[in-house]
Amino acid sequence: MPVKNRFAELQDEITAWRRDFHENPEILFDTHRTAGIVAEKLREFGCDEVTEGIGRTGVVGVIKGKASGSGKVIGLRADMDALPIHEATGLDYASKTPGAMHACGHDGHTAMLLGAAKYLSETRNFDGTVVVIFQPAEEGGAGGRFMCEDGLMERWGIQEVYGMHNWPGVPTGQFAIRPGAFFAATDQFEITVHGKGGHAAKPHQATDPLVASAHVVTALQSIVSRNSDPDDQMVISVTSIESSSKAFNVIPAAVTLRGTMRTMSKTNRDLGEERIKALAAATAQALGCEAEIKWIPGYPAMVNSDAQTEFAADVAEAIAGACERDAPITMGGEDFAYMLEERPGAYILVGNGPSADVHNPEYNFNDEAIPAGCSWWAEVVERRMPA
Ligand SMILES: [Zn+2]
Ligand SMILES: [Zn+2]
Repeated sequence: MPVKNRFAELQDEITAWRRDFHENPEILFDTHRTAGIVAEKLREFGCDEVTEGIGRTGVVGVIKGKASGSGKVIGLRADMDALPIHEATGLDYASKTPGAMHACGHDGHTAMLLGAAKYLSETRNFDGTVVVIFQPAEEGGAGGRFMCEDGLMERWGIQEVYGMHNWPGVPTGQFAIRPGAFFAATDQFEITVHGKGGHAAKPHQATDPLVASAHVVTALQSIVSRNSDPDDQMVISVTSIESSSKAFNVIPAAVTLRGTMRTMSKTNRDLGEERIKALAAATAQALGCEAEIKWIPGYPAMVNSDAQTEFAADVAEAIAGACERDAPITMGGEDFAYMLEERPGAYILVGNGPSADVHNPEYNFNDEAIPAGCSWWAEVVERRMPA
């Protein structure tokens, strides 16, 4: 079975929605316009129930199948938010908001799930209930967690949940997935090394936090190379070093380091936090300084369930003729992780072709992926809950 014919017919309409979202990007929870359009369209399609304001600006739609005897309920999730990036594509439908851009393709995700909702409302060729979930604030705001905290899974009785992301570098309309940990946990840290400032020509009268900070940066490199299991991917990057003085001839009193840690397992997540704190404290102390450490927990690792992943891959293979079932792990984060912590499910990548990478000002969602993406959503429903 290739893509569903109905989506070839709907492609122009879905593309127009996508380009409208692209032109009007909204960041984090400020997805008011987008959510309003989503809710309006779901009502227009004849969804049985549409609820706004879940997880602040999230939207939930319910579509009942022509039968309901199975008692099954499946959740399908898309994200709606854009990024604080200034668009550089030069497209005629480029962002009208300076400094905001759909650089991760969430415009495409929202449009594709809307397309699937339209088809599923028309056909209802399944035995059970579909819950379409449109979330805000995937990009750092944990919108998925806020929707879960608003009782998303319990309130709508969701039993399994599925998600999709476009992926540059995967051929257009092809699919890739992997079971188990797929996207990383993304924690952040801020380490302020306090010393005693002074004249740069009289270092013996100061306690230099800058030299101590440099040693902390070096010491942190030993965690991935010496402490963690080489089979269990982990990244620690110090990304910023900021002195309390900008002068050429002053030893500062304090230096702040910032960085991120990416882990795929609870073991490494705990180990990394413990080692970063211990190394920063002991290294600073060894050089006469004191480290103050702020730990900022981020998204957990996103872990695909085995059975649902295999099912998702079978559906993808039916649509695209093939599916990469051993896609590489990505050390990026994804807050669909929160939904997968609450329910079994799977997250799949749909090829965006040879485009610029996501989060790049030149990136654009590939509208040619729409029929494949929409078909996957619809087929997940029709196969998991056959009429
Ligand atoms: Zn992103
Ligand atoms: Zn994204």
